[in-house]
This record gives sequence, structure tokens and C-alpha cells, in this order.
Amino acid sequence: MWWKESVTTLKGIGAKKAALLAELNINTVGDLLEFYPRQGAYLDYAHLKTIKDLVPDGSRQLFRARVCQVRNAYGARTRAYTVVTVRDETAYASLYFFGSQRYKAGKLKVDEELQITGRVRPGRTTKSVSEVDIQTFAEGEGAAPGIMPVYALAGTLTQNDLRKWMRQALALAAQELPESLPQAIVEKCQLPARYEALKNIHFPESWEALRRAKHRFVFEELFLLQCGLLYYRQQNEDKRAGVAQRAQGTLVDDVIKNLPFALTEAQQQVWHEIAQDMAGDKPMHRILQGDVGSGKTVISVLALAKAVENGHQGCLMAPTEILAAQHYATLLDYLEPLGVRVALLTGGMRVKARRELLLNLELGLLDVVVGTHALLQEDVRFADLSVAITDEQHRFGVNQRAVLANKSQQAPDVLVMTATPIPRTLALTIYGDLDISVMKGRPPGRKQVQTLCYTEERRREVYAGLVRQVLVGRQAYVVCPLIEQSDALEARSAEQVYEELCRDFLQGIPCALLHGRLRGAEKDAIMQDFVDGKIKVLVSTTVIEVGVNVPNATLMVIENADRFGLAQLHQLRGRVGRGSEQSFCVLLTTADSPEALSRLRVLHDSDDGFYLAEQDMNQRGAGQLFGLRQHGLPDLRIADIMRDVETIAEVRKLALEQLRTPEAWQEIRRLVELQFGGRFNMIFNT
Ligand code: ADP
Ligand code: MG
Repeated sequence: MWWKESVTTLKGIGAKKAALLAELNINTVGDLLEFYPRQGAYLDYAHLKTIKDLVPDGSRQLFRARVCQVRNAYGARTRAYTVVTVRDETAYASLYFFGSQRYKAGKLKVDEELQITGRVRPGRTTKSVSEVDIQTFAEGEGAAPGIMPVYALAGTLTQNDLRKWMRQALALAAQELPESLPQAIVEKCQLPARYEALKNIHFPESWEALRRAKHRFVFEELFLLQCGLLYYRQQNEDKRAGVAQRAQGTLVDDVIKNLPFALTEAQQQVWHEIAQDMAGDKPMHRILQGDVGSGKTVISVLALAKAVENGHQGCLMAPTEILAAQHYATLLDYLEPLGVRVALLTGGMRVKARRELLLNLELGLLDVVVGTHALLQEDVRFADLSVAITDEQHRFGVNQRAVLANKSQQAPDVLVMTATPIPRTLALTIYGDLDISVMKGRPPGRKQVQTLCYTEERRREVYAGLVRQVLVGRQAYVVCPLIEQSDALEARSAEQVYEELCRDFLQGIPCALLHGRLRGAEKDAIMQDFVDGKIKVLVSTTVIEVGVNVPNATLMVIENADRFGLAQLHQLRGRVGRGSEQSFCVLLTTADSPEALSRLRVLHDSDDGFYLAEQDMNQRGAGQLFGLRQHGLPDLRIADIMRDVETIAEVRKLALEQLRTPEAWQEIRRLVELQFGGRFNMIFNT
């Protein structure tokens, strides 16, 4: 099988080149063929221009010219660069090379003929060309008209190298290449065959052929991923019976009646979905996505009440002790007056108290337990657990969810609540094994947080405002991107900001520094002091991102706000605006980044976490944001979860159909393993 052989079996690849290819994750000939050209990067040699015809509008263009002169120069901040002057029969042009690109330029010889692509802009005397790709013409295949691929490169590799090797590999593929999708699917969806598609993604016959080829590989990747997920779900299917939890008695109704507010429509809708799931024989597997402050906690209270109403137990797991304590307080408020026995289990408990709690839990003398990871420990056993809820899911892994669910004879209903709004398509991919409820909007009566975007020049003004808030009795957060100062990043650290503030503005005001390197107990103690109002200003890193509720905190200042994604800023902002007072969020950014400022203005204009998450994904790409790998999924090579929404919907339907025919399934399992084997941890390595 040639595709499993090392790339060194190809002509022209020795140990040195192979090492460079390895940097691009290309080890085998098969890897090479799956190394697709850079997104959208093809050169159309039908569009070869003369220098005179180049349009200086900043777009990438292609032309052919001879080298006249190679010259090194120094720019602002003494950054060295190289200028290569070239000419054709119509005019001169200047090519600019920076950084590691200069190496290439330095090797050019006068009178050498080049094929050049780059961004063309007006120059002082000649047109200037930057982000230059060059090929020495003599060895280029570009002489023939056609569409040429442009690959990402490493070290001294050239486009010509990759094109040459790719052609060799394609020649092998022409002789033997197994299909990587079930034949029936290829036919049904009218996809080009694998070889056809490979050929056209590297050396397209036409733009249309290229489009079809790309679609095929996007389809393939998403289809197999979806199949893998469904397979995982099937493998891990809970064989235990579920608990049908129907309306029994009046506990749930009483809880609703006693609430100090009416459920919003969104809450009613979601509660309806959950109640229906719980009433069924099959265990519920549902994720509830609700923006910060959308009122998810009440929903969890209702689900717990329903379990108790049916004579079972429920548990609620939160990612931090403080959150767990806050939930516990809420449950005491809503459930205890109605006779429900509630307890709090945390890591820091005294041994005796813990032992007693566990005993009561196992004997069924407790109805509901709230806790942290401590709930996952082996000696935590339930008499009759029928609903397991986790809050702020992105802090827990898939496996932890499973541990909790396994703490009972029957399969409990599982509810996962998350404040990270994830667009539906991505949720389908990451949480392919869960049903999804979405709660949009907020309960009425809460004031919107006023968001202000300032450049750093106004920092003193901002901190003066912070002091005023503290003097009238409020509290404030200051969030920084780093813990301590770093040379590599020009950003303000929490330590630095904390020291500055203590010396200057905050003299005599109780404040504290909070970051992820503190021990859990220290963190909790600081947070608790802040909750209790003993600390007025909390300088921290993003550790405060997760749902704690301090209604008296009315101001958040975020330093170097441009270092955060929109969705994350939105999460952070959700920490203020929890009381009846008007709250503010001030985003500070360095003075010389007007783009950052305009990007941040989106936050000023929108308070919709779903919208912001989508904007974020458009700006930064989905993979970056959610790190598929973090969820045990492979990174995608060619598909894009935002762009390929329609394809995801299509492949999901097809994958579900396939699952019903065992023979088709055998085949697909093999293909999934081929495609994702090493990359799909969740399925193959657990
Ligand atoms: P999150 O979804 O971020 O967990 P919470 O459950 O903490 O949100 O709710 C935020 C605040 O809104 C809480 O103070 C809660 O009491 C309040 N709340 C929840 N539902 C309603 C409602 N229907 N009407 C008014 N206030 C509500
Ligand atoms: Mg919450």
C-alpha cells in the first residue's frame, strides 16, 4: 500500500526534505495527498498579467518578470527587509520581503526569470508587491496555462517541490486508490470519485471541478466524523433502564407557585421539554444552553423537584466550591420549605460531617445533594439517583459526566447546563450525543450592562470612576489577560495592575489578587470575601469567568480587552449587572489598535451571547474557539463548522440512516478508523 509508505519513497525527498514535511504533519505519501492547498489559494495562469496591467488595489495578482537588483534595507525600528526590483517589457516593480522570507530573496540572481504572485499596491516610483510567492521560471510547470495550487510551506520547501511530489503521488493514486466513502453514498450524493476529487483539488481542470472536489472532501470529513460520533453513542448506550418520572403529587407545582417571580416563556418552554424527557422511559440526555443570567438555575431546581416528587434523588454538580455553595443556598430557599432534604458536598468538608452526609445519601435520607467534583468520588453512593445535573459543562469532560450518571442502578436522566452559547451546528458536532434546548433572552427587570470601549489613554479616568463606585458602596472587578508580566506578550498582567492600583488609586481600599495559580482553598477564600463584601475590588485573570453571583458588583474593567474573544468578554461581562443598580463594563485596549476598538464595539451594541459567539467564530474560526480536540474530537482538515452548516445537516441525516443498516455500518466503521484513527481520541483511545 503505497499510501502508507514514507514520503522518502518519492523521488527528490531525502531525510532533510522529509524532516521539513514532517513539520507540516506529512509523513506518508497518503498524508501528502491529503495536504490540500491553502484555503482558496490557487493561481489561475489564464490570468497572467504584465506589470503595466497590474491593478494596485492590494489584491493578489500574478505576473512574470526578470530580476534587476536585490538590495537589503532597514525600516522603522531597524527591521531589515529585502527589496527585489524586477522588470518585464512594460515596466518595473518592487518586491518586498520580510523576516524569514528574506532568505528566498537573497538567493535570487540578476536576470533570472520569475513567476511572481503577491499583493500589489501603489509605490513611490514603481508598483510595490508584498506577501510575495516566487517561482524560478525555468523549473516551473507554470508555463502551461491552468490552475495551480499554493501550499503552506515549511523552511526551505518551495511551491515547486510540493507540486512535483504531489504529481508523483497522484500518479500512484491513478493506479490504485480505495474509495474512502461508501460507494452507495458517493453515488447517491453524486460526489466525484476519490481519485477524481484528489486530482482536482491539487490540479483543478476547472474552477467548477475544484468546487466539486472540495465539496467531496468536506462532505467526507463531516460524514465520517458524524458516523464516528453516532458510533460512539451506540457503543456507550446505556443498557440500564431509565426512570419514567411523571407528574406525581404537587412538589413541582408548589415550587413554581412559591417562586418570587413568574417563569419566562423561554423557561416554560425548556421546562416543558425537560419534563417530557423525564417522563419518558428512556433516560434524558439533554444540554441546556442559556446565556449568562438567562435563569437556568431555576430549571435545575424544577428537575430536581420532579425527581423528589417521584420518590427518587437528584444531584447538581458545579465546577467550583463557590458556585456549589450558591446553588445550595438557592435550593435551600426553594426546596427546603417544601420539605425536601438538601445537602452540600465539597472537597473541604470535615471528615465526620462528610461521612454522615454520605451515609444519609446512601440510606436515602437525603433527597438532593449539590457539590463539586467531590461528587465524583467513589465512596459517594446514592440510594436511588434519578436525575444528574451538571452546571457550566465546559469545565467538565465527557467522562466525568458519565461517572456521575453511573452512580445508580437505573440510568438517571442527565441534564447539562452551559452558559457558553454554542451555535447549533457546532453543538451537533461536539455534543452529537445530546439533545439540545436553547433558552434565549433574559428574565425581565434586569438592567442592561453599559459597555464602554476606551483606549488606554483614558485609564486614569476609568480607575477614578472605579474608586467612585467603591466609595458609594459598590464592588468592582478588574480583569487582566496574564498573571505575571511576560516579555513575549505586550499585555498587562494581573500582578502588575494589582500592584499599581494598590500603590495609587486603591490605597486604603480592601482589594485582592485572584488567579489560577492559587490553591483551590485560597481562591475560594478570596472569592468568599468578595461575595461577603469584605473585599471591594478584585483584580483577577479570567478565573472569575464562571457563574458566580455578586449583585453588588457594578463595574468591571477589562485590561487589554482585545486579547480576549468576544464570547469570552461577554461571559466576563455577565459577572456584573446582577443587581438592581446600573452596571458598567469598561473595555480598555492599547491606543494604537483602532481595529480592535471597532471589533470591541460589537459588545457595546449587542448583549446576545449567541450572536456574539457566532461573530467570534466568524472572526477567529470555530476550531480555535472551542478546540475540538479538547472535546476529544479530531481537528478538521478541510471542513469548517461555520461555513459548512448545510453539509453538516445533510451528513447527519445520512449518517443516521446508515446506522440502521448493520452491513453498511461495518464498512463505515472501517472508513472512520482509516480517516480518523489516530486523531479521534474519544472513539478509539478510550
Ligand atoms: P444563569 O442562567 O446564568 O445560571 P441564574 O439562574 O443565576 O442565571 O439567574 C439569574 C438571575 O435571574 C437570578 O437572580 C434569578 O433569581 C433571576 N431569575 C430567574 N428566572 C427569573 C424570572 N423568570 N423572572 C425574574 N427573575 C428571574
Ligand atoms: Mg448559572
